Formats: sequence, C-alpha cells, structure tokens
Amino acid sequence: MEVLDALYKFYKQFKGRKGVFGYSALSRPLYYFDIKKTERPLVIVQCSIHAREYITTAFCLKEIADFEKKGKFGRAVFIPCLNPDGVDIAERIDPLYKANANGVDLNVNFPARWGTGIKNVRKSGSENYVGSRPFSEPETRAIRDLTISIRPDATISYHTKGEEIYYSFYQECEREKRDLRLAKLLSVHTGYKIGSALGSCGGYKDWCIEELKIPAFTIEAGKEKTAHPLKSKGALRDIVKKNKGITRRLIGGLKDYERKIYENRDKRSEKGKG
Ligand SMILES: [Zn+2]
Repeated sequence: MEVLDALYKFYKQFKGRKGVFGYSALSRPLYYFDIKKTERPLVIVQCSIHAREYITTAFCLKEIADFEKKGKFGRAVFIPCLNPDGVDIAERIDPLYKANANGVDLNVNFPARWGTGIKNVRKSGSENYVGSRPFSEPETRAIRDLTISIRPDATISYHTKGEEIYYSFYQECEREKRDLRLAKLLSVHTGYKIGSALGSCGGYKDWCIEELKIPAFTIEAGKEKTAHPLKSKGALRDIVKKNKGITRRLIGGLKDYERKIYENRDKRSEKGKG
C-alpha cells in the first residue's frame, strides 16, 4: 500500500487542478492532475498501467512537482496510477502481478491491432490477457474518454524496465520522422536508447499513434539488471535523476515543431507572392 498511500496523500494535499476521471474494476478512483501554464502544447503522462511497475507512480509524483514549479509553457495532465487495483495486488500479494483486478493486461486492451501481439493470451491471468474485447476494462475506457476529451498533442507512458524509449507503431513516413525527432530529444534527456517493441500491440501508446495520429512514447525506466518490481530508494533515485523534467522537454520539443511548421508555411506563402 505504500505507493497508493503516497498517491492518496499527494492528491489530498495538491492545491492545483485535479480530479477523478474514472474508477477501477474494484471502484478505486483514477486520479488526474492538470497543470496548465499555457493552453498548448498539451501532453498526457501516464504511469502504472502495469501493476508491478508502480515505481513509475512514485516517479510521477515527483514529475508533477517539477512541472508545477519549473514549467513555463504548455499543459500537462498526469495520471500517476491507471491500475490501482493491480498495484495493490502487486504490493501486498503477488509482487510480479501486471494485470488489473479482472486479470486483463490493460496495455494490450486498446484497439490498435488488438489481439495480434506475439505474447497475447486469451485467458485471464497476471499478464498478457487482451480481455474479451478492446476497451473491455473500466480503466482503459476511462483513459480513452479522458484522452479524447482533452485531445493531447502527445503522450508518454511510463513502464519498467530496460532504459529504452519506444515511439513507433506503423506510422507513415512523415509522422515517423516527426515522432523519431521527438524520441531523440527524450533519449538525449534520459540517456535511454531508442528501441522498438516489435510484435507488441494493443497498448495505449499504440492506440494514440494509430487512432489519434499523435506522437506517443513508451519509456521503459529503470536498469535492466534490476529485478521486478523495482522498489528500492536507489532505483527511484536513478529514475528521477534520468527522467526529471521530461514533461518540460517534450513540451519544448512540440513547441519547436509547431514553430517550424509556421515558419515553413510563412516561407511558402512568401514564395507564392514572388
Ligand atoms: Zn509495462
């Protein structure tokens, strides 16, 4: 209960915009924190969709504080824990548990080539069960509705582990270039390498890329050699050190990108005049 307790306490004390955007299978509230410096760019930072990866919730609380204090532009909506039931199971009962309380792996429950992943299974359990249909789970429906209603410019999903960043999901050429450029920024920021999760699908990132056509990133935080679940103070310190400020970095990258589009448009219209 340590991480969930820390989240409840943080939520209570937080003075800014915050709320509950849905409920888990066992009716636990799903919290969001909404920090707006300017209207856009707008990003969603999502954590602990996989239960045993709850160290990302602890990181998220620190990242919220960082963006609140140091952010100058943009708006960030943080979801520190999308899977509180699973986190509770992982913290108290089964340390390697990944799914939600229904035994559905939430990060394969989105309609993005759903059910075609190489590790997908059709039976409920601790991991890889895709659910009876896409969006079968209250947690995935809740983040779907939130995402569609606020229309983010990009999303980050935090997972553990391996110090890798994934950005691709069958995008066409132009979007692939755009998204790789941003992935490189995040890679420089964290020191993590850019990788690809070939053969995996149905994730939140995949859905953001395929359905919403926005840049979306999975960040596998934490050293590969550390065993699941990462929970030591040392592991958290390492993740915070490498990832702190990631929200500001992504928003900065999106802002530069927008400016370039405007500049190019201006150049083109100049040419048109000549
Ligand atoms: Zn994960």
